[in-house]
Amino acid sequence: MSDNESGGMLIGAISDDQKIVMINDLTLPIKEDIQSRFQYIRSEKHNNLLKEKWLASNKTLMYFGEWHTHPQDDPIYSTQDYKNWKMLLNHSNTFTEDLLFLIAGRKHFKIWLGNRKNNKITLLFKGEFSEIDTKNN
Ligand SMILES: [Zn+2]
Repeated sequence: MSDNESGGMLIGAISDDQKIVMINDLTLPIKEDIQSRFQYIRSEKHNNLLKEKWLASNKTLMYFGEWHTHPQDDPIYSTQDYKNWKMLLNHSNTFTEDLLFLIAGRKHFKIWLGNRKNNKITLLFKGEFSEIDTKNN
């Protein structure tokens, strides 16, 4: 298994009553991304993948944020992550007011909620990975 960071887009749909967001898809790293031990930079080509999913889903699946991995047990966002997230809050061309930013560490994962109106980013959820069998990696 590579030690490099991975990432991509979080993709989901909104219920008809606009009350529930379901994140049920994502994009995976592609070769145009920049992946290193301490950095993941998603390439613009993910937008093409998003568009394909959007069209294939009859325009119900859409962009809801970003995920990436960190080589930390308990992930903490970097200064660069924070800058990227702020940039995405200001510039993403999407319908929702909120975006989700997920970082998966080795033991825990965290989800931050970014609000596009007040430009605030707050921790929404911290979860723990259940025992994962790593013997086959
Ligand atoms: Zn990061």
